[in-house]
Amino acid sequence: MVAIDGPSSSGKSTVGAEAARRLHYRFCDTGLLYRAVTWLALERGVAATDTQAVVPLAAEVHLLADAQGRLRRVEADGRDVTTEVCGAPVDRSVSAYSMVPELRAALVARQRDIAAAGGIIMAGRDIGTVILPDADLKIFLDASAEERARRRAAERGAAAPEAERILDELRRRDAIDSSREIAPLRAAQDAMILKTDGRTFGQTVTAVLRAIRKAEKRVAGGVRPSVGGKAAGRTGRPE
Ligand code: C5P
Repeated sequence: MVAIDGPSSSGKSTVGAEAARRLHYRFCDTGLLYRAVTWLALERGVAATDTQAVVPLAAEVHLLADAQGRLRRVEADGRDVTTEVCGAPVDRSVSAYSMVPELRAALVARQRDIAAAGGIIMAGRDIGTVILPDADLKIFLDASAEERARRRAAERGAAAPEAERILDELRRRDAIDSSREIAPLRAAQDAMILKTDGRTFGQTVTAVLRAIRKAEKRVAGGVRPSVGGKAAGRTGRPE
């Protein structure tokens, strides 16, 4: 099991998914769970402070596998809402919902169940510290807020004022995610910290692949399947 944590737009999800594809690991983007709960809550007018109404929403969101068996899409209200959950309203609100301890507790078991079969790269904020403290490898992907905002703005083809807003939003989300009491964003003590400023996507993927291969050798004496494995290969079916 490989944990990849890091702040917003550090590349955990794209880098993790690509590394998983190359190594035939499964992949799970846990941020989608928090995003989908937030999206549902906004749709239904449920405030983050209304814990009793927020927690049951966790049972209504399901991760979906892509063609390579990677859990990087999400379903809520019976349909694929991956695009919706990546929009600005959810960006603005997700940190407020994800700091609710009862919601996090409801999602811990879900994430551990997904990881239980092994052979997985799981991306998030607290994977190495809380969800999979015994992961075979923990990576903390980081980059300056400016670099992350630049990448996100480029992805979205955003013009200057929009790029400013993206930077402000990233800083605000980093601050809330890092300072919350439960499972704050931080590198596990035994994590390998990978700064990606000045590295291309391909260079970061290469560094991650190298670290995973090294961990595989360390853990299994060179036999990959005990940490890796074949991707599930399921398409579009819930987790
Ligand atoms: O990774 P992504 O930016 O999509 O995550 C969205 C939000 O979900 C984060 O800002 C954070 O508040 C929350 N999150 C979390 N724990 C995780 C993954 C995401 O609290 N493991």
